[in-house]
Amino acid sequence: MTRKKLLAANWKMNLDRAGTRDYFTKFLLEFKKNDRVEILFAGNFLILETMMDSAKSLGLRIAAQNVHFEESGAFTGEISWAMLSDIGVSEALIGHSERRQYFGETDELIAKKMQTAEKLKMRTVLCVGENLAERKSDQTFAVIRNQLAKNLAFVSHLEKVVIAYEPVWAIGTGLSATSEEAQVVHQMIRKQIEENFSKDAADKILILYGGSMNLKNVKELCSQRDIDGGLVGGASLKPEEFAKMYSSL
Ligand code: PEP
Repeated sequence: MTRKKLLAANWKMNLDRAGTRDYFTKFLLEFKKNDRVEILFAGNFLILETMMDSAKSLGLRIAAQNVHFEESGAFTGEISWAMLSDIGVSEALIGHSERRQYFGETDELIAKKMQTAEKLKMRTVLCVGENLAERKSDQTFAVIRNQLAKNLAFVSHLEKVVIAYEPVWAIGTGLSATSEEAQVVHQMIRKQIEENFSKDAADKILILYGGSMNLKNVKELCSQRDIDGGLVGGASLKPEEFAKMYSSL
């Protein structure tokens, strides 16, 4: 089946409001929206409204990079889905490897975030990936299977879920996985979705690759059968390059 592709930007802890406006001005000079590929930008909480202002006229999807699993309450410093919805944002990245690595997000915590997102009918990009030691010791499949099983433990349908396979050793290192290396993992993920959900869910779900994706490798990676687009960090901060990446798909 043909799935529409998705190119997603993860701006991480970069850009302020003026920088965001400047970004979209430059992005627009190069960007031509097409029907084959959706586009999404994940920004920090403080620029989401500014991003929404630009998004409205351009048909872009805007996401947060994180969200709390509780709906409200005594969770100092946290942001809820209701707060995001209030400014029109209904998507978030969940379980990015930097959240797992630097902020102690466990598979169990990520499972709660996925559960709440489903309950509230919000869209998520669930990130999974093995680290270098795990890859070197041939544990890639086992690690990903385990993350997915735990992270999706309380989820019963996947219409609003995108999965991003992001090998940790490839994120921000300039060392992208090869298209063959990525494809075998994507295929395994789709098989697991078929086993744990349904053939229909497996056929429909978008599985993105993330890890040093750029203008040079985006087309080759995304031409693989089970790679439905990308989650892009560093290269997404360059508006012209990111718009060109989009057009190349
Ligand atoms: C990411 O942060 O999700 C990512 C893939 O980063 P980069 O493209 O910089 O490797």
